[in-house]
Amino acid sequence: MTQRSDDSRRRSPDRAAGRGPAVYTAFGLAAEAEPLSPGLHVVATPIGNLKDVTFRALSTLAAADAVLAEDTRVTRTLLAHYGITTPLLAYHEHSGESVRERMIARMKDGEALALVSDAGTPLVSDPGFKLVQAAIEAGLSVTPIPGPSAAITALVAAGLPTDRFFFEGFLPQKSGARRNRLAVLAGVPGTLVLFEAPHRLPEMLTDAAEVLGGARPAAVARELTKLFETVRRGDLAGLAAEYAASGPPKGEVVVVIGTAPEDAPGPEADADLDARIEAALARHSIKDAASLVADETGLKRREVYARALVLARRADDAGEV
Ligand code: SAM
Repeated sequence: MTQRSDDSRRRSPDRAAGRGPAVYTAFGLAAEAEPLSPGLHVVATPIGNLKDVTFRALSTLAAADAVLAEDTRVTRTLLAHYGITTPLLAYHEHSGESVRERMIARMKDGEALALVSDAGTPLVSDPGFKLVQAAIEAGLSVTPIPGPSAAITALVAAGLPTDRFFFEGFLPQKSGARRNRLAVLAGVPGTLVLFEAPHRLPEMLTDAAEVLGGARPAAVARELTKLFETVRRGDLAGLAAEYAASGPPKGEVVVVIGTAPEDAPGPEADADLDARIEAALARHSIKDAASLVADETGLKRREVYARALVLARRADDAGEV
């Protein structure tokens, strides 16, 4: 293992001014933090389980002159857990140019600032990009302290190919824009990793099944590293039907979607199937219409149900119901 050797490592003025030695405690043992070089230190923090933090992350948080946090209350809990007393400052998505200028000035003055988000890796669908950019432009050093991210954690648990993957983050919230974006993603030759708010998961999966094709293998990873961690695996049609029936899950979720199986029918709707479903929907509930058409055609009930949901919602949007 090669250690980073950095002659500019030093105690910062704040520390020199008498905040005492930088320490953290873990497993009942106190450790003295290593001095930091001036600049921005981008620190990954746990996504649920407080034990998922590296020694280097703790040492950096303890030695920094200040920790820039998305929500200081959330980060205070983490710091308190590890006996870290570094001052906290707010840095979030609404922080403007003037805040960044102040931070840059402090770092130019020789301070080491640590940037964290509420959970996981800062900048990954979290604030920090503009600050990193500003620090680089100002000629300051930017040091990443790697650790957890929900994206990679979900990817490795999904059971889908990992040799090529595309991280999309959050899709647009409105269905039309979401479908347009999914249509662009349909051509990505690798596994897709998406964040989603739990209350939008059922409709997002329905749109994904329609636009990408219900046969794509997929997984919904929920509450990763936490007590109720679960990974539901299946195909998009099946998962869309499951969550349409069960309603939104509790907790946080990541959706992982594989590429289409070679022999899968394309995402294009089957006109005959749609006509059957629409006829059944005119007389029955979505669930009954799906059962009826599944019996008529011999198709899987959950696949017909996922398609029926899409058609019912489309009719709803068009004001036909
Ligand atoms: N920067 C963070 C990271 O690297 O993990 C992600 C921040 S993003 C604002 C929050 C989203 O990450 C959630 O909506 C959810 O999709 C996902 N997420 C975060 N923690 C999670 C967890 N423990 N289990 C499942 N998904 C999680």
